[in-house]
Amino acid sequence: MGDSRTIDIVYRFDPDRPARRHGPRTAAEALQRLVRGNGAFAELADGRHGRTRIIPLDPSDVGHGVEPGEAPAQQPFAAVLGCSDARVPIEMVFQQRANDLFVVRVAGNGLGTGCVGSLRYAAGHFERSLRVAAVLGHSQCGAVTAAVDAFLKPRTYLPLAADFPLRQIVDAILVAVRAASLALESAHRGRVAKRRGYRAALVETTAVLNAALAAFALQQELETRTCRVVFGIYDLATRLVRVPGLAGSPKGSGTGLFPPPRDDAEFRSLAADVAASAPIAALLGR
Ligand SMILES: [Zn+2]
Repeated sequence: MGDSRTIDIVYRFDPDRPARRHGPRTAAEALQRLVRGNGAFAELADGRHGRTRIIPLDPSDVGHGVEPGEAPAQQPFAAVLGCSDARVPIEMVFQQRANDLFVVRVAGNGLGTGCVGSLRYAAGHFERSLRVAAVLGHSQCGAVTAAVDAFLKPRTYLPLAADFPLRQIVDAILVAVRAASLALESAHRGRVAKRRGYRAALVETTAVLNAALAAFALQQELETRTCRVVFGIYDLATRLVRVPGLAGSPKGSGTGLFPPPRDDAEFRSLAADVAASAPIAALLGR
């Protein structure tokens, strides 16, 4: 017996019970697969449902057993646009295998032209398997924090001004920072910007709106009858994907991936819900 606190995440090929690849048929099924995988990942550490997670692997997905010189066909069921942050390994966060996810990662998970091109490629080439496209922001994001600091203390923006590629990443997030700051002001009134936790609350509210905006733009590009666009935030502390302020499941905890706002009014309503949510209020109160 090993240490009972040991956590095992095992990719297993069992020749007696080979894992047949059957991708989700619908977007709802695909979404459920991602959310369940993330739930299992989050729970590994508390051990409520055991500390071993076995992910059945079809070795052909990593090229074993295919004809020499041949490669397996690419057939992801989800495309994910995530941040480059090393603490957010997308396949691990969702407990998925090789050939399941088409992943694009860029600091701040913004939709630059290379990202749009990659995701368009996925939508165009994997139409038969792709059911979901998700934008995944995360808590305590460095790129979002840089944008928030540029907004709060414009002097910190100066060193960035000459670095055009880096500035592009920060500039793209500023729209979400402004929206988040307006939402926090109207949800908490008074002198919210003077409160000690304001910067942290602004960072976390911005992360949600930034991911929602990218998902909104992606929706115009990619959403089809068979492929749905969603967004969520990976919380580094709980390892759960969620959106503070949205009901989600289970029990209104806000966990899960959600459809982006469809218009300006829905975006403002999302901003208000996030700004007024318990996790954001808790940050402000610190
Ligand atoms: Zn990040």
